[in-house]
Parts: sequence; C-alpha cells; structure tokens
Amino acid sequence: MEKRQELYRGKAKTVYATDDPNLLVMHYRDDTSAFDGAKVAQLAQKGETNNKINAFVMQKLAGTGVPTHFIRVLNERESLVRALKMIPVECVVRNVCAGSMAKRYGIPEGTLLPEPIFEFFYKSDALHDPLVNDDHIRVLGWATASEIAEMKKLTHQVNAVLKPLFADAGIDLVDYKLEFGHAKDDPNGPLLLGDEFTPDGCRLWDRSTAEKLDKDRFRRDLGNVIEKYREVAQRIGAPL
Ligand code: ADP
Ligand code: UDP
Repeated sequence: MEKRQELYRGKAKTVYATDDPNLLVMHYRDDTSAFDGAKVAQLAQKGETNNKINAFVMQKLAGTGVPTHFIRVLNERESLVRALKMIPVECVVRNVCAGSMAKRYGIPEGTLLPEPIFEFFYKSDALHDPLVNDDHIRVLGWATASEIAEMKKLTHQVNAVLKPLFADAGIDLVDYKLEFGHAKDDPNGPLLLGDEFTPDGCRLWDRSTAEKLDKDRFRRDLGNVIEKYREVAQRIGAPL
C-alpha cells in the first residue's frame, strides 16, 4: 500500500488516497476545533493519542460484530481505512443530558435519561449541523428508510458495547457521535462505521468525581485536554 495525494483536509484529520482506490489513509493532526471551526488550537500529541484510541475502540467494536471502515494502524498518526461514500448525517446517542440537548430543552446537564435518546444532525458546518428527523433525511435524499433504520440500530449497538467498556474503567459514556457510509467497492453492501471514535466526538465523565475527560475540556477552557485523553486511554487499556 502506497500513500498518494491529499484528498480532503478536515478540521482534525487529513484524508489521503492510496494506490488502491478502495483504501484511504486517515492522518490524525494535532489541530482541534470547536463551535463549527470558530475556535481552533493545536494540542501537542493529540493526533497520535486519537489515532491510538480510535484504533483500540474500532477493533473492540469490530470484535462484537459492528462493521467498521478500520483496517489497521500504519504509524503514530495514521491508520488505513476502507474508502466510504459517507452519509452526510451525524448519529448521536445520549445516555445523560448534556451539550446541545441541555441547551435546546432547558434541561440541566447531568440529568440521567431513563433510556438512551437518538438524534440525527445534518453534517454542515455552514448551517451549524442542524438537528433533523427521519423525514428530512429520507425526503431530502440523504439516506433511505432502511439506511436510517440501520444507522439507528448500529449506533445503539455501539452503546451496548462501549457503555460497559467505559463503565468498567469508572467512566460514564454520556453521549457520542458516529458517522456511517457504504464502502466504495461495495455500494450496495452493509453500512460501515466510518470516521472515528475518540474523546473528540463523545462525552466521558469520571464516575466518582464527574470530571470531564473529553473535548469539553477544550470547548470550555478547562485545560489539560490531552492529559485527560491519555488518562482515558490508559484507563480503558488502549495502548499509547
Ligand atoms: P470534518 O470534515 O468534520 O472537519 P475531520 O477533520 O475529522 O472532520 O475529517 C475527516 C473527514 O473524513 C470527515 O468529513 C469524515 O466524514 C470523512 N470520512 C471519515 N471516514 C471516511 C472514510 N472511510 N471514507 C471517506 N471519508 C471518510
Ligand atoms: N459531536 C461531534 N461532532 C459534532 C457535533 C457533536 O463529535 O459536529 C459530539 C459531541 O462531542 C458530543 C455529542 O456529539 O459528544 C453530542 O454533541 P451535542 O449535540 O451536545 O453538541 P455540542 O454542544 O457538543 O456541540
């Protein structure tokens, strides 16, 4: 496998083509951003830390039958993945009320939800990722009814694997965001989990102290962002 030209530079990762049109290199940069790119910074060791946490989590998920794009780690900051045609929605599951849900409905952050709540957001920085429902997605042609059902099923399935994984490390999985797509070489095949699972895209609270161990440390200027990401890795047993 040979790394070729840069295809896309996102806010945190750069995607490269390879000599195989069905494979991509995901390069995890130290860049971090919040509020749709309005707040940005470089955090030393972020790229390598997230590359390793993502690899660990993706492999755990694959081991329980969640289909993912992840193939293998290539080096400190890069992993090889299957090229996907991404569905332009973000799938969020919440176990505890926080962030935009707390604001939207005027519910205090930390309110325990009696069962997980699923939300879709349309992936558009320009529109600030608006909340959308199944009809918006289906009627506007972003995904079919069966893809919608599959994204919900898989996102809940991830909760069933990761909630206990973090709980065993004394960490509450408050909420998280997933993205899905179809493999370029299997457009009619099953949906695969794409992008990443790292503390950048979820909320993790220490069970006994309620300390935040995720990107809210950056959003809310709490400091020690990567120190806490690395603490998460160490506590869940992800090799750094
Ligand atoms: P953003 O685009 O939100 O700034 P990133 O900096 O993380 O985010 O860039 C990664 C981009 O790559 C995202 O747009 C994501 O949807 C996309 N992506 C993730 N996994 C794959 C994949 N397997 N194939 C193609 N694109 C992917
Ligand atoms: N999230 C994300 N990318 C986004 C929006 C949200 O990874 O573009 C994650 C976020 O880190 C949190 C969950 O999805 O774990 C729910 O985010 P929320 O809707 O509360 O938005 P926020 O207030 O975090 O922007």
